[in-house]
Amino acid sequence: MTQHTPIDLAAVASDEFDVIVVGAGPGGSNAAAAALAGGLRVAQVDKAAFPRVKPCAGGLTMKTCRALRLEYAPWVRATWSSVEFNLWGGEGHRFTHRRRPVVGLVLRPEFDNALVRQNLEMRDFRLFSGERFVDASYDRGFTVRTRARTLRAPQLIAADGAYSTVNRQFHLAHPRTNAVAIEVNIPRDDVRSDSDPQLCFDFGAVEAGYGWVFPKDDHLSVGLYTYRWGLKGLRERLLAYIAAKRLAPRHIDALRFDAHQVPVGGYGLSRSLLPLYMVGDAGGFADALTGEGIYHAVESGRIAGETAVAVHRGDARGPALYRRRLWRSVLPDTFLTYQASRVFYRHLRAGTHALEAPGVWRALIEGYADAATFTTSAVRAPEYILRSLLHGSLRYERLASQDVAGVASA
Ligand SMILES: Cc1cc2nc3c(=O)[nH]c(=O)nc-3n(C[C@H](O)[C@H](O)[C@H](O)COP(=O)(O)OP(=O)(O)OC[C@H]3O[C@@H](n4cnc5c(N)ncnc54)[C@H](O)[C@@H]3O)c2cc1C
Repeated sequence: MTQHTPIDLAAVASDEFDVIVVGAGPGGSNAAAAALAGGLRVAQVDKAAFPRVKPCAGGLTMKTCRALRLEYAPWVRATWSSVEFNLWGGEGHRFTHRRRPVVGLVLRPEFDNALVRQNLEMRDFRLFSGERFVDASYDRGFTVRTRARTLRAPQLIAADGAYSTVNRQFHLAHPRTNAVAIEVNIPRDDVRSDSDPQLCFDFGAVEAGYGWVFPKDDHLSVGLYTYRWGLKGLRERLLAYIAAKRLAPRHIDALRFDAHQVPVGGYGLSRSLLPLYMVGDAGGFADALTGEGIYHAVESGRIAGETAVAVHRGDARGPALYRRRLWRSVLPDTFLTYQASRVFYRHLRAGTHALEAPGVWRALIEGYADAATFTTSAVRAPEYILRSLLHGSLRYERLASQDVAGVASA
C-alpha cells in the first residue's frame, strides 16, 4: 500500500505545453498518461493537494481496469466475484462468476494519489496541485489561468469533475440530470454484524436508487445512490439503511458522511471546433443506472489523451475525432443507461424481476467479467449466454426476502 505523504510540486521548467489537463481524478490522470505515452509535454492542474478525498465507493469494473493506462493492481483492497442485486424488502439475487472477479475495490484517496504519482515519474509531465483553474481563453491555442500562474498549450482536456468550471465557461457538455450519492466508510472492527457482509446493491432502499455495501479489506463502504435530484434527508436515510442492514457501528457519531453529485445523460455534446475535450464527470458520462463513473472517466480520458497525440502529429481534426471515438465505447453506455434508468427506477419490482431471466443475468455477469461495456454485453448477449453455459462459469442463487421493517423509504 502507498503511504499518504504529500506530493512535492515539480520544478517548473516552462509554461508552454502540448496539452493542459484540468483535474487529476482518474479521468485526468489517464488522459495525461495517454498523452505522455504519445510523447506530448503535459501540464496538469488540480485545485486539491494530493492525496485528497473524493467521495466514492471505489468499485472498479473489469472494463475500467482494461481502459487504465496506469498501474492499478497494487491499490486494489478487495476483489469480488459475487454480487447481489436485491429488491429492498423483497427477493434477492446472488450472481457468482466461478472463474473471474467482476469487481475490484480501491480507496479513492490512495488510488488517485497513486495514478498522479506514476505520471510524476515522467520527464515531460508537470503537476500544479493546490492550484484552482480560474479561466481559459482561446486564440490559436489555450491560455489557462490558475490562481498562481498562466499556462499555454494548443489543446485542453477538461477532467475537473461534477462541478466542472471549464464546462461552465465553454458549455460543451449537457448532462440531462445530476444523480447524487452519499457514503460512509465503516471500519470492519467497528461493525457488530453477526453475518459476513456481502457486496450488494439494494434497489429501492432509497427513492429512485439503491443502497450499497462494498466490503473492503479493513472497512465497509456503505452508501445510497439516487437518481432523483434534490431528494432531502440523505444522511438520515443512510443511517436508516445502515440500521436495517444490521451493521450497527459502535461509533456512529465519529463517522464521516460525504455526498457528491454524479452528472448523467451527457451524451449530447455540443459540436465545437475548439480542441477541448470533456472527460468523465465533467462531461456527465456516468452510468445513470448504477452511478458507476470511473470507467467513463478513464476511458474518455484515454481517448482524449490519444486524440491530443493524433492532433499534435497533424493526423486529425480533434473535436470531431474525439466525438467519433467516444461513440465507440463511452457514449453508447451513457445514452442507454440514462434511458434504461428512467424505466427501471419507475418500475423497480418489474426491473429487478427481469434480472432473474437467465438471458439477462448471464449476459450481464459474463459480460462484466469479460470487461465488456453495458452496450457490448447487450449486443453480444447470445455469445455470453452460450459461453457461460458451456463453461459452467456462472452460479445463481435466489435469496429469501429481506426483513427490512422500519425503513420507510422505498
Ligand atoms: C458516493 C459516491 C460513490 C461512487 N462510487 C463509485 C464506484 O464505486 N464506482 C464508480 O465507477 N464510480 C463511482 N462513483 C462515481 C465516480 O466517483 C466519478 O464518476 C468519478 O470520480 C469521475 O472521475 P473524474 O476523473 O471525471 O472526476 P473526479 O474524480 O471528481 O476528479 C476531478 C478532479 O478535478 C479537480 N477540480 C475540480 N474543480 C477544479 C478546478 N476549478 N480547478 C482545478 N481542479 C479542479 C478535483 O479536485 C478533482 O481532483 C461514485 C460517486 C459518488 C459520489
